[in-house]
Amino acid sequence: MQRDAHGMSTMATTTTDIDDLTEECDECDQQTPHTITVKILTESSQPENAQYSREPYRISECRVCGDTERTRMNNA
Ligand SMILES: [Zn+2]
Repeated sequence: MQRDAHGMSTMATTTTDIDDLTEECDECDQQTPHTITVKILTESSQPENAQYSREPYRISECRVCGDTERTRMNNA
């Protein structure tokens, strides 16, 4: 039996699975398999502004140590 114990608590509205890639992991200090996803995260850093900007982030999760790295895809 398989249990999904993934307790993600981000405000993600959209998740797009891209692929598994091999990338350099800082924690493992070597090339490891990563799960790459793209999520639209709502940023609410400006309380005065009722407008929430929704930004796509590229989430790279190391499948060895579980370390995740978020990279904002829109660099304004
Ligand atoms: Zn790692």
